[in-house]
Amino acid sequence: MSEGEFDLIARIRRRIAVRDDVALGIGDDCALLAPPPGMQLAVTMDTLNAGVHFPADTAPADIGWKALAVNLSDLAAMGAQPAWCTLALSLPQADAAWLEAFCDGFFALAQQHGIALVGGDTTRGPLSIGIAAHGFVEPGMALRRDGARAGDEVWVSGTLGDAAGALAQWQAGAAIAPPLRARLDRPTPRVALGRALRGIASACIDVSDGLLADLAHITRASGVGADIEADALPASDALRETFAIDAMRRLQATGGDDYELCFTAPASRREAVQALAARLRLPLARIGRIVAGNGVHCAGLGPVVPGYQHFA
Ligand code: ADP
Ligand code: MG
Repeated sequence: MSEGEFDLIARIRRRIAVRDDVALGIGDDCALLAPPPGMQLAVTMDTLNAGVHFPADTAPADIGWKALAVNLSDLAAMGAQPAWCTLALSLPQADAAWLEAFCDGFFALAQQHGIALVGGDTTRGPLSIGIAAHGFVEPGMALRRDGARAGDEVWVSGTLGDAAGALAQWQAGAAIAPPLRARLDRPTPRVALGRALRGIASACIDVSDGLLADLAHITRASGVGADIEADALPASDALRETFAIDAMRRLQATGGDDYELCFTAPASRREAVQALAARLRLPLARIGRIVAGNGVHCAGLGPVVPGYQHFA
């Protein structure tokens, strides 16, 4: 069924959940929002383009999920509590079934995190999804990239390389192992972890472009170096079963799209981090140390190509 722009917007609008701090949502020229007094707004935006950020045959529900997940991951990496988002949709055609499926994935994740869709823009063009997300964080408590200090320990959540493993299989024309495909299509933003790391982590980033590349953003911003052990990088069973050890290590160190959190914390907070892992039932692996100097050095890894960069 083909519909006009306003029919599509009406479909989206039927799905939204209410939040008390949304004074006016979809339907006017702007949304009107009431941030809690005394909180800082954390604001982020990420765009997914077909063929660049996801394989063109990705299910629309997975696209809806992932477009929101990558933005929630940025809020998580700052220790912010998700609140509101806007959605810029560019669609090749007005396909109601596609949009409903997209909304299934988008709103399933939105509901998990209590984030409200408050506006957006709907246009015709190549398939592209831009989302801006807003969250709250207490002044001075955000997890920035510039707080790592020599002696801090480097940690990473969950497992690394799964999404890149799925992509490698897809690019090779091979059947994709279902657990890896699930990580590529439906990443889990580590929002609860990001919130819990306030006051514990000294720096934090989400792993979107590859661990070494993203950790290098922390070391550069903080004016320090990092020593990482390839053997300490956490791997899923599916990744171990699918790839030989060298290929697996490369995927873990340089593959992107896992949306885990990489963070640093003083060695004196090691027990606090381990307690968090137990409370959140989320493995947190200690993978190395922050040192004086610069650059990220990874022992036990062959030559690698750096993480993904647009226009490179
Ligand atoms: P305007 O022309 O004033 O920008 P639009 O016709 O683009 O308004 O949008 C009408 C209303 O629908 C606005 O409140 C806008 O925020 C909302 N909207 C449009 N597209 C989307 C979308 N993809 N998701 C959520 N809200 C949307
Ligand atoms: Mg508009």
